[in-house]
Amino acid sequence: MTMREVQIAVVGAGPAGLAASVEAARKGAQVLVMDEQLEPGGQLYKQIHKFFGSREHLAGVRGFDIGRQMLAEAQGLGVEILLDTVVQGICDGNTLFAVTRGEPLLVMAQRAIVATGANENNLYFPGWTLPGVMGAGAAQTMMNVHMVLPGKRMLMVGSGNVGLIVAYQALLAGGEVKMLIEAAPRIGGYGVHAAKLARAGVPIRTSHTILGAWGDRQVEGATVAQVDKDWKPVPGTEVDLEVDVICVAVGLRPLIEVALMAGSRAAWFPALGGHFPAHNERMETSVPGVFVAGDVAGVEEASTAMEEGRLAGLSAAWSLGLISDDCYHAEARDIQGRLEALRSGPFGAARRQAKAAILEGEGILA
Ligand SMILES: Cc1cc2nc3c(=O)[nH]c(=O)nc-3n(C[C@H](O)[C@H](O)[C@H](O)COP(=O)(O)OP(=O)(O)OC[C@H]3O[C@@H](n4cnc5c(N)ncnc54)[C@H](O)[C@@H]3O)c2cc1C
Repeated sequence: MTMREVQIAVVGAGPAGLAASVEAARKGAQVLVMDEQLEPGGQLYKQIHKFFGSREHLAGVRGFDIGRQMLAEAQGLGVEILLDTVVQGICDGNTLFAVTRGEPLLVMAQRAIVATGANENNLYFPGWTLPGVMGAGAAQTMMNVHMVLPGKRMLMVGSGNVGLIVAYQALLAGGEVKMLIEAAPRIGGYGVHAAKLARAGVPIRTSHTILGAWGDRQVEGATVAQVDKDWKPVPGTEVDLEVDVICVAVGLRPLIEVALMAGSRAAWFPALGGHFPAHNERMETSVPGVFVAGDVAGVEEASTAMEEGRLAGLSAAWSLGLISDDCYHAEARDIQGRLEALRSGPFGAARRQAKAAILEGEGILA
């Protein structure tokens, strides 16, 4: 078994992990980033669309280009990035167990930053195990990373930004989107993404759900129906669609296992995706020296993931004595101000309240 000693170990090379590593390396820390994928960038790596948000947070730049910029910056600062490396657990706050390219690796770190991102939620309907039913993220990976169309005729379930964007990308890739359905009475994502689909002629049906998928060896069709205000199907409104792929885009939940294995207490807020590691204003969990950032600390967006990553990297460097208290507090205040601004719109209100509540000790499980 190989053993390594580092000042700061970062788990996950998505926007949060890369931003954390850049910030910590700028302050003079020796940083090792580990990611299970073969390419760094996390979700950014498969996002071909131009990002929304503010110019300061690279709105208008395509996701994979943002990932490349962050990667170049991290490497320029001497951050080591170990790919094909799964971190399986952390114990005693500073010992990380990993498997790198099939070989065991033990990393003794003075500080750990967990930035493992989020997982897709599933929906369980008759036929959900048929080949052809998949998460929208899986479809996005097939199209944008592997250049494979997941199916010719798609039903998209869920109208958050993920559902809207992946459905549009399916059109760009040459597929047909037979319908996009949403159980809520309103579209969940940004109007700009929904408008693109509507302009392309995709039927968008709110207050609709999927009743089941059918097919012999793979998906051949799906039945959808209208729902009432209690989300109960309305008899007589069933419609059969001939589709060969059903994408489920019904939210994400934080990938909390590594942080909880480290011993962190969990918090629970639906607005942030359910369970996530409880953390303080420095992004430190209940285990001293173990920090979290990004979607694992509550599902939000890449822009907030980057800012939380910066804060975690800065806090870890400060806790190692690499920067003065004055420098830390000034920079942390700036980052917290930007996070506040990012959570200031109507889409961010519930997330802002939930983040404020955990600092008051609310929602933290025993
Ligand atoms: C379709 C889609 C469109 C989006 N569009 C936008 C947008 O326009 N603007 C925006 O701001 N946000 C957007 N987002 C959201 C944004 O991509 C995420 O919020 C952001 O990527 C979260 O960053 P992260 O670093 O926390 O996690 P991730 O990007 O998910 O990165 C986590 C990394 O950790 C790795 N990892 C996990 N567990 C382990 C382990 N045990 N060992 C090693 N590695 C591990 C994962 O493989 C991954 O590479 C979009 C998301 C999707 C799905």
